Amino acid sequence: MKRIGLIGGMSWESTSSYYTMFNRFTSESAAPWVQPRLLIDSVDFSEIVALQRLGDWDATGKILADSARRLVDAGATVLGIGANTMHMNFESVAEAVEIPVVDIRDAVITAVKAKDAASVSLLGTKYLMENDFYSHYLETRGVVVVKPTEDEVHELDSIIFTELTQGIVTEVSTNRFMAIAANCRRRGGDVIALCCTEFGMLVNEVDAPWPFVDSAAAHVRALLAF
Ligand code: GLU
Repeated sequence: MKRIGLIGGMSWESTSSYYTMFNRFTSESAAPWVQPRLLIDSVDFSEIVALQRLGDWDATGKILADSARRLVDAGATVLGIGANTMHMNFESVAEAVEIPVVDIRDAVITAVKAKDAASVSLLGTKYLMENDFYSHYLETRGVVVVKPTEDEVHELDSIIFTELTQGIVTEVSTNRFMAIAANCRRRGGDVIALCCTEFGMLVNEVDAPWPFVDSAAAHVRALLAF
């Protein structure tokens, strides 16, 4: 019996969207009351944030690998890491378990290519935009990546950590986010890739003014398809 395991809590806001989308997307094509079998292991995000600030990715990798093992012990048959930034630790998780781990970066690439686009504006945390574990992954698979400027990177990071991951959504930040997305588009990133699983709180990919790919939605669809 298949059972999806999600390493969640990064942040709980995004995990709650994952939970909603797992069920909502299933109900689009399934009979009433059919729901995916899910296990969520929700980590304490304060520990992750503190280690991110220290740049101690070995320690975050251990927390995620422990979470992955708990999910496998509980019966998960496929895993997802419910955050883009923490794909920095994808290998630590994949090596800790013997079941498949569905990579959010692959889900984003598939969604971008489905829009017939070859370039993306990559928006996420500063860890994601300043390191190359994400952009390099996309680029080596044929997707051209356009990143925000240094100031924009810091603005987006601040919106993520001081607002979205704490459940705060403001019009000011939504407008700033859209302005930064527009700048990236002008610089050549055709599709706006929401590579922070909380960005769906600001913009809905369905009624957005430009082609958007919401990484969380793409990841949920990829996990369900698996
Ligand atoms: N959920 C986020 C992401 O998708 C940001 C929080 C974190 O640093 O994990 O990258």
